[in-house]
Amino acid sequence: MIVESGIAEKTRRLLAEHGLRLKKSLGQHFLTDRHILDKMMRAAGLDGEAGVLEIGPGIGALTERLAQEAKKVAAVELDDRLVPVLAELFSDRPHVKIIHGDAMELDLHRLIREHLGDCSRISVVANLPYYVTSPILMRLLEERLPLERIVVMIQKEVAERLMALPSTKAYGAITVAARYYTEVEWVTRVPAHVFVPRPQVDSAVIRLNVRRRPAVEVTNEPLFFRVVRAAFNQRRKTLSNALTSGLFKGERKESVIRCLEEVGIDPNRRGETLSLEEFAKLTNRLDERAK
Ligand code: SAM
Repeated sequence: MIVESGIAEKTRRLLAEHGLRLKKSLGQHFLTDRHILDKMMRAAGLDGEAGVLEIGPGIGALTERLAQEAKKVAAVELDDRLVPVLAELFSDRPHVKIIHGDAMELDLHRLIREHLGDCSRISVVANLPYYVTSPILMRLLEERLPLERIVVMIQKEVAERLMALPSTKAYGAITVAARYYTEVEWVTRVPAHVFVPRPQVDSAVIRLNVRRRPAVEVTNEPLFFRVVRAAFNQRRKTLSNALTSGLFKGERKESVIRCLEEVGIDPNRRGETLSLEEFAKLTNRLDERAK
């Protein structure tokens, strides 16, 4: 308890010393609980060979722990008021690089090459800003960065979407994408009161172990993701209708129905009931037909 309030006190002191008012618009809710940091670090499993990309270091509570265990840390912060504070905090640790920039805009391949290039294993470990959690996660997955794992704190609701099973409300395009690229593991729930300032929602930490190869084989990856998006964009429609209007602009209903039947999927099912394997089977059939 004493140590926990230590992080909270340090956070408040640093903010006051630098006259900083936190911006909700940037998702600035800073973590103050040592036990949660311990759990994130255990999930990250870092060692002296590990390089870490941190997105949104804030006032540096997680960065401090990463700096103790990793070979190198590259931390990208958007808020230009926090960058000099972080640079000063880590000025005596040359293996920690503070980078001012937007994690949605920066060339992450280049950043990893330049700052973490001599690390044999690279992970993302971060407490992500709420307003941009899903786009950042999708970017980390789709860009095929050379990552071993991604350990992130995110809204509990998004974590539940990543863990969801077919036919549940939480199951969506992001569930399918996460499972395609990674193995998703729940680490821990994080109550709202451990942040300064306290957010409206609870959070959770999840670990995504990046697969060497996607979980299913698809012959046309862009088509796979278009099928998935079309299926979930109109989740109340039957699969044949959702795909025909969302994907083929109403032209090929008969052909869509035939493909579905050929791979043993009832065209009246809803897209949200399909497993990853079924999405792959369907895509491969649609792709074959188009050739
Ligand atoms: N890591 C700190 C912690 O755990 O206490 C702060 C986490 S806070 C939830 C999210 C941080 O991400 C904030 O410092 C915010 O300024 C930063 N941020 C917001 N949008 C960003 C973006 N697009 N790129 C990089 N950092 C961003």
